[in-house]
Amino acid sequence: MTVSGPYEEAGPADPSPGAAAAAQDGAPAAAPRHAEPVHVDFPPVENGVDYLRSVVDHLTAADPPASRDLKYAVLHLQAAAEVLLKARLAHEHWSLVFKDPGKATRKKFEEGDFISCTTEAAVERLRNVAGVAVNDKGARALDALAKTRNSLQHYGLTMPARAVEARAAEVLDFLLDFIHTELALTGPVDFCGESITEAEQELAYVRARLSTIQSFLKRRHDQLRPELEKVRDITTQCPLCTQWAVVLGSGTDPLSCRFCHHGWLSAELAAADNGLAQTAQGVEVAQCPDCCEDALLKGIATVASAPAHRHSLCFACGTAFDVLNTCDSCEQLYSPNEDNDLGLCSDCLGARIDRF
Ligand SMILES: [Zn+2]
Ligand SMILES: [Zn+2]
Ligand SMILES: [Zn+2]
Repeated sequence: MTVSGPYEEAGPADPSPGAAAAAQDGAPAAAPRHAEPVHVDFPPVENGVDYLRSVVDHLTAADPPASRDLKYAVLHLQAAAEVLLKARLAHEHWSLVFKDPGKATRKKFEEGDFISCTTEAAVERLRNVAGVAVNDKGARALDALAKTRNSLQHYGLTMPARAVEARAAEVLDFLLDFIHTELALTGPVDFCGESITEAEQELAYVRARLSTIQSFLKRRHDQLRPELEKVRDITTQCPLCTQWAVVLGSGTDPLSCRFCHHGWLSAELAAADNGLAQTAQGVEVAQCPDCCEDALLKGIATVASAPAHRHSLCFACGTAFDVLNTCDSCEQLYSPNEDNDLGLCSDCLGARIDRF
């Protein structure tokens, strides 16, 4: 694999005129502290902010954004995240941006001749080595972005426009905070030795556009609010767009997210997708004791229960269970009678009583 600069892998160029500057990712990034200065066209922070500018331009070009705009928004957002996270890592130590820091050499770093670590590894190193507090929400948003970028490159854009837009807004929000708290863009020069004036102007532009994007999202929420207000106890979070707009209770019919319109052919598939959003290995989908559909997932919050309370929730009938036990006889889950739990589900209990 060829690598175009110390902090980022070569990304596809955006042929649109507005994005031409953002696509100049062939330039090596700035040298770390104490290094001999190397010539750079786009030092990392400025480069990252330039990508962010391209992202917000693409996302605000139309409402909803066209699929081509979404494609470059995702690619450039991922590029921005890589550049900015790795700029902070390199500040800690330049070898940390290598995929394998044990094999890092100064020469390779300066020449940009190495494979850099993944975004996931960068977040882990920022937390564990650099002591940077990356919150879980930010880490999840970055992780989802990396997956979207990968699937985009292999299969094209498979996510609904609204989902891409909502998730991009989360990552933008995270990165603007990250620049503010971790990249020291507050003095006359940041720690990469860059002049901040231009980058600050660019950042102000990005912030303004982000608030336009957030107001698109808010407008959509405002439109949905009256219908969702009535179903708060059966509405859960969409694993694609992360908005609280998946209304359960459609039984064996397909269900969809009212915000991004992503649909699932069955409650079971929706539950499985939600389980995958919780952990990479997924959470096992079980059979619901009420409606008997395989669509019950543990640890799910609804609008009514979030953020404090999570239950086992059936994606088919929408029933929430606080306590479920496994039947000693048939090993199915059942909702126990608090005062008199005999370790058996009602079917097995009934069968025993009939025998006597
Ligand atoms: Zn959604
Ligand atoms: Zn059910
Ligand atoms: Zn049983």
